Amino acid sequence: MNRAPDLIHLWNSILSYALPMHCALCSMQCHEPSATEPICAACRQQYFIRAQARCYQCALPLEKLDDQSHCGECLSTVPHFDRSISACSYAPPLDQLVLGLKFMQSLAYANLMATQIAEQMRALHAISPDLLCAVPLGPQRLIERGFNQALEIAKPLAKKLSLPLQPQLLIRLRDTLPQGHLSGKERKQNLSKAFILNPEFLGQIEGKHIGVVDDVITTGTSLNEIAKLLKRFGASQVTNLVFARTSPHSF
Ligand SMILES: [Zn+2]
Ligand SMILES: [Zn+2]
Repeated sequence: MNRAPDLIHLWNSILSYALPMHCALCSMQCHEPSATEPICAACRQQYFIRAQARCYQCALPLEKLDDQSHCGECLSTVPHFDRSISACSYAPPLDQLVLGLKFMQSLAYANLMATQIAEQMRALHAISPDLLCAVPLGPQRLIERGFNQALEIAKPLAKKLSLPLQPQLLIRLRDTLPQGHLSGKERKQNLSKAFILNPEFLGQIEGKHIGVVDDVITTGTSLNEIAKLLKRFGASQVTNLVFARTSPHSF
């Protein structure tokens, strides 16, 4: 079992008590940001705008503020997931939090992301899933990175929502290429049979509403493959819970 994330959490906690911290977004030095909430109140207000209209199903930013609107893409090809909730758009400076979590092991950011997802759910009066799981990393990437950023977000999110988390429900059988620069057909081939459900936990999804946690939703292809799989094995509903949603131009 990998203990690195726990040790990093502990180290960050010690540092936060010993030293003034810098806000992760505006670099202001103050005592307010902590190991668990690493941005200042001004940045929280400025960058997490709850009124952004989004597609109900894939969380794509929309012009019209209507809780039930769907984008053209979701209307023409209906995804397998029922709903996506995203705390923000993937754009500067918030993309730095995503990159910081992924590459610099700034695990304090995972707690902030979980807080923002939970607040977005509350703002949208979203129905809580019955069970949470996280988009898994491939075996090689997990070894390289040492932790799965989606799971690190799912852990505090499960606590905040008082929901059970099943970290081993989904398994990624192999490492896949980054989806961003592939065509639609290539994306599907890239992910074909990439995920399976852990047979040990199949009994937990029958008739249940499953929440799938990830850091960013880009093309939505991975989340769609996962939702298809969960539905095939009896999940009644699938909601994606993500920190950031890319805009169409950043696909
Ligand atoms: Zn700030
Ligand atoms: Zn959509």
